[in-house]
Amino acid sequence: MDINGGKHMLLLEERKLVVEHGKKLIDNGLTTGSGGNISIYNREKGLIAMSPSGLAYHETRVEDIVIIDLNGNIVEGDLTPSSEMGMHLIFYKNRDDANAIVHTHSKFATAISAMGWNLEPVHYLIGFAGLDVKCAKYATYGSMELAENALEAIGNRNAVLLANHGLIALGPDIGRAFSTAEHLEYVSEIYYLTKTLGEPNLLTEAQMLDVMKKFNTYRYQ
Ligand SMILES: [Zn+2]
Repeated sequence: MDINGGKHMLLLEERKLVVEHGKKLIDNGLTTGSGGNISIYNREKGLIAMSPSGLAYHETRVEDIVIIDLNGNIVEGDLTPSSEMGMHLIFYKNRDDANAIVHTHSKFATAISAMGWNLEPVHYLIGFAGLDVKCAKYATYGSMELAENALEAIGNRNAVLLANHGLIALGPDIGRAFSTAEHLEYVSEIYYLTKTLGEPNLLTEAQMLDVMKKFNTYRYQ
């Protein structure tokens, strides 16, 4: 595959955004090493730009991003796509509002997922995902079983916890998917802190629906 020093690379803009947000995953403490992954779906072209497997984010270049189709065939790129490719694809196939996906191994979200707990509305920022965030049943990373468990648990929300693993967030664009993942890490930390103090006062459904109208996520109730 000749990518001609970038001149004819497919999805160049999406590649740049995947690289940029990969660095932000590390810089903002949402993952360590090469954990987690990011993809952007260009629905018009039917192609997905996905972070490669096992490459440090600060070493990833635009030409390392793998371009795949909705069936997981590599269209352009020499590296292996992320091990969670199947999970990204199942969301793109089943959620027509999803054009970007961010998967993190962020600390507090992962701690909540290791308790098998759903994330409850302790803070209004959870409204970026929905009324709450469910925890999907455990399955081995990279497996279709995990992808199916995650799809089942997310429902029409914008995020789901993966038991003993991490978090996955989706959105209409990468900025929104990334900030949802970031906000949910904050909500997870608050949830953790309140659980060490006792039982938190949760926001009511009516209070959350007011927030979700402002966030334009009302449909994800
Ligand atoms: Zn993972």
